Amino acid sequence: QFPFGRRLPCDIYWHGVSFHDSNIFSGQVNKFPGMTEAVRKITLSRAMRTMRDLFPLEYNFYPRSWILPEELPLFVAEVRTMKDSNPSWKPTFIVKPDGGCQGDGIYLIKDPSDIRLTGSIQSRPAVVQEYICKPLLVDKLKFDIRLYVLLKSLEPLEIYIAKDGLSRFCTEPYQEPTLKNLHQVFMHLTNYSLNIHSGNFIHSASANTGSKRTFSSILCRLSSRGADVKKLWSDIISLVIKTIIALTPELKVYYQSDIPAGKPGPTCFQILGFDILLMKDLKPVLLEVNANPSMRIEHEQELSPGVFENVPSPVDEKVKVAVIRDTLRLMDPQKKKRKDTHCILFLRDSLLRAVSAFCIIWSMKDKQHKHHSLKLS
Ligand code: ADP
Repeated sequence: QFPFGRRLPCDIYWHGVSFHDSNIFSGQVNKFPGMTEAVRKITLSRAMRTMRDLFPLEYNFYPRSWILPEELPLFVAEVRTMKDSNPSWKPTFIVKPDGGCQGDGIYLIKDPSDIRLTGSIQSRPAVVQEYICKPLLVDKLKFDIRLYVLLKSLEPLEIYIAKDGLSRFCTEPYQEPTLKNLHQVFMHLTNYSLNIHSGNFIHSASANTGSKRTFSSILCRLSSRGADVKKLWSDIISLVIKTIIALTPELKVYYQSDIPAGKPGPTCFQILGFDILLMKDLKPVLLEVNANPSMRIEHEQELSPGVFENVPSPVDEKVKVAVIRDTLRLMDPQKKKRKDTHCILFLRDSLLRAVSAFCIIWSMKDKQHKHHSLKLS
């Protein structure tokens, strides 16, 4: 830590929140310029929509979304058309403020007219999204997955996915949304920061019980029920690669502006947190990408009213220590060619396919080539 300013150049710079230091001329920085902006809810939704318009079949892993307030009339019109063509369709939508986190300001609605227009939408843009009504449940509870992805380099594109992640559980048994239960956050939102306040939250030292578990424990459980876990992993890998491909054009613009080619500057890498929901049929759905995922390995415990203490969280420690350790191993300038990455899966083959797909996408955008049957994986 350099509380009074840095004096010597470093091999690796570990910035707390985002890339913010233009006085670095060598070494590697753990943040990409512009990443925080690129993964904000509105920017991500726009990038996913662009790709979905180009490749509807490949980019069907992100819920249909509209940007508020600018697309409110479009949202109203599209929902009306869909309802007219399918009167049995009874959708639910989730409204999420842009730049929000930890479930802040999120609410569910059944009809576009329920959007709260007073004040907040005008001052705070948001995304309204189709709500996934039939998530996979474990122990009757909804849960989501936090996976850690290392973007090691943008050019060439190098992506690593940590083999284990976290599963964060709701604390009230799940029911499909109805007007009566729409506001029950402990049933519908999996955020740790919300559910920790439920009396039902279980801190467990074991990886396969409690309100926060390892993803590998969920995979074991699914596998013992006969689920095709290999296919699930392959779908998740595909989702991660396609999401990063969608973000890449914007990231390259930021990169070239902050670290122009030909001038001395650092290279960048970044650990991203991917939040993924599994549907009942095991299809993974991307909820959001976090540019600054929490690496805390402790949680607060209330010893007596108002008196808190930090205690170790074994599940967080198991997953996050491996992520940081392997990231540092991978970025270690002395050992660039080292291959003993225990906990991280290198996606070389998928990556090669992704890179060639990426080139095709570019040429398609630039020269209007028609490769509608393009397969990304
Ligand atoms: P935040 O950054 O505020 O946590 P998220 O996009 O992660 O916002 O949403 C918060 C929670 O809401 C998620 O963890 C998930 O449980 C739930 N959620 C978000 N989007 C959807 C969706 N489209 N369908 C079902 N549940 C969702």
